[in-house]
Amino acid sequence: MRSRPVLTVLAAVLSLLAACERRPDGTAQGAEASSGQLNIYTARHYDADQQLYAGFKEATGIEVRTIDGNAAQLVERMKAEGPASPADVVLMADAGALWRAEDAGLLQPTQSAVLSERIPANLRDPAGRWFGFARRARVLVFSKAAAPPNGQAAYADLADPRFRGRVCVRSSDNVYNLSTLAALTELWSRDRASAWARGVVANMARPPQGGDIDQIRAVAAGQCDVALANSYYWIRLARSQNPADKAAADRTVMVFPEQADGAPGALVNISGGGVAANAPNRANAVRFLEYLTSAEAQAILAEANNEYPAVQGAETPQALRPYADFRPAALPVAVYGRRQAEAQALFDEAGWR
Ligand code: FE
Repeated sequence: MRSRPVLTVLAAVLSLLAACERRPDGTAQGAEASSGQLNIYTARHYDADQQLYAGFKEATGIEVRTIDGNAAQLVERMKAEGPASPADVVLMADAGALWRAEDAGLLQPTQSAVLSERIPANLRDPAGRWFGFARRARVLVFSKAAAPPNGQAAYADLADPRFRGRVCVRSSDNVYNLSTLAALTELWSRDRASAWARGVVANMARPPQGGDIDQIRAVAAGQCDVALANSYYWIRLARSQNPADKAAADRTVMVFPEQADGAPGALVNISGGGVAANAPNRANAVRFLEYLTSAEAQAILAEANNEYPAVQGAETPQALRPYADFRPAALPVAVYGRRQAEAQALFDEAGWR
């Protein structure tokens, strides 16, 4: 009988089709639909990310392959690859960097009920091209001597004449600083943000140089009294087993700015990602982004880089709790990209190199 194998094959095809049925949010359901692979272009390079990929494989059967690079390298690579790009998911730090990928047409919109329910609206692109999966705060790091006695500080302090010659910052082409000034422009006004940038330049202890960790070390070494940094850098030093790193944190104070009554709250940025414009494994890409919102993935993501979970109600890992008590600004992080060019112009006018 020849009909039997044909029927068997037909039944198998039908059950596969059933398994491939779409959920209302557009993602595929069923293990069969998601077996295969996923190519992640990532600007994150933490050992713990291997845990994420292993956890995702265990949950879905999907094999993860990664291409590493910094945000600019990944953008250039995807542009060069064009429609043939194997990239399915793009992961980057800072909404300003994700915006550059979005602006270059390298990300596509994703409709997912899971993502829009779990990730607060201000931490994702309104059009669904990228989503925040972990949060970081833009903090002030003071020397012990200059730390505010009441624990309250404001971004405006960096431009205050009392810190003349006592401020350390990195260069203005750095995306963290571009996002910071973009946010201040939105919170205040273009004029006030411009005056702030000029005030910070007047207060610089030295020409902008180095990364965030270098600013913290400079404060610890007494070269300046206050610096601007991302929270995870200071927390990394505070949690370090390296005596020199630990000492740098011990000699400085991390302050979440804008916590006073009526103040807007500390500026928050994200690490996040989205689905690549030409993703060959689109359904797998969406499943991966959804996996990143799971309790397990949120904990791994946060702990790997001393960040805070982005998902509403996700638990802050135990080790980060001593550094997690602050009120974030409610600003949509999408503003950082929209105002990036304006921020760069204000930095240039101010002479902030
Ligand atoms: Fe960083």
